[in-house]
Amino acid sequence: MSELHVYLPNLEHNYRVIRSRLHSKTDLIAVVKAGAYGNAAIPIARRLEELGVDALAVAYSEEGILLRKSGIKKPILVFYPQLEGLDTLITHQLEPCLYSTTLLEKFGSLAKKNNEKNYPVHIKYNTGLNRIGFAPSQVSWVLNQLNEPFLDLKSVYSHLAASEASKDDSLSKLQLKTFLDLRKHHLELTPKSPKFHLLNSSGVFNYPEYQFDAVRVGIALHGYANQPHWDQELKVVSELKSKICQIHTVKKGAYVGYDHGWKTTRESLIAVLPVGHADGIGRHFGHHKGRVFVRGKWAPIVGNICMDLLMIDVTETPCKEGDEVSFFGTSHPASDFAERGNTISYELLTGLGPRIKRIVHKTI
Ligand SMILES: *Cc1c(COP(=O)(O)O)cnc(C)c1O
Repeated sequence: MSELHVYLPNLEHNYRVIRSRLHSKTDLIAVVKAGAYGNAAIPIARRLEELGVDALAVAYSEEGILLRKSGIKKPILVFYPQLEGLDTLITHQLEPCLYSTTLLEKFGSLAKKNNEKNYPVHIKYNTGLNRIGFAPSQVSWVLNQLNEPFLDLKSVYSHLAASEASKDDSLSKLQLKTFLDLRKHHLELTPKSPKFHLLNSSGVFNYPEYQFDAVRVGIALHGYANQPHWDQELKVVSELKSKICQIHTVKKGAYVGYDHGWKTTRESLIAVLPVGHADGIGRHFGHHKGRVFVRGKWAPIVGNICMDLLMIDVTETPCKEGDEVSFFGTSHPASDFAERGNTISYELLTGLGPRIKRIVHKTI
């Protein structure tokens, strides 16, 4: 079967590299949404907790509940809480990131009804990504709503639209300026001093001077920082492996796969792998775009990728049924594989399905 091997010592290496790029007082919030980028949320969150991470973050409440149920004690931010089920945040001591008037009002009345005292919340502003968040002009309204004993504003943040772009990217500069103004207003309007944060993984590498009081790091913990020269400092955490389940000879001029996806130009050896688009290796990797490593050589994916299986051409790659193949790993990063299918490491890693067994290695 197909397996995703997750090497925790490499996660630890990346954690230390990221820490070394931060001031000692900057908090590291580890983003473990989407099953820690497809790599197995619980063991990764546990190791990060052991390493002394300041907080964890997930996208949705259910992800946070799963971490709490597995015994995670650190603060957990929920980036995108939805209006339904807000009470479960409180039940599981999850910290909502409030991004809209409706959400803030609704969470505020819930905290009041429950007689909460200083329930930790975070506020998200939109400074230019134009995705989610309060408009900076809403700052006094927001602070007015928060001026209640049942809520405690722990942090104020925003998100860069192009943190990996070159350093003089004018949009990032504009977002930074908006964020600095916002921070100034906040500090003028309230005696409370929440933490401020702006940077994700590539932000930490590209704009360490904007780290403020905390950073929110996801993909870099897994070995990817969105620029090859930054990646060199990190270690790839996971390797996707599969095993050849059949090899057969196909005559010259025959077709391989659905819809006559590929026509052989010579007598060919075709190997079949038990992984398909239902497992997250999408059809965009078919037709020679993607390739896998077999016995020290690359073999291209041929024809259309099926739901549960895909075919590779091993005519020039001596191998046998049962041999292991690797899609990506420490020596051939997922970012390279992703690029071959016109996608990014984020989509590839988080799209790996539940049929791929996660095998977590505590040591190497
Ligand atoms: C996912 C996410 C992050 C982490 O981004 P990386 O590029 O993976 O480091 C940070 N902040 C927010 C708001 C996010 O949604």
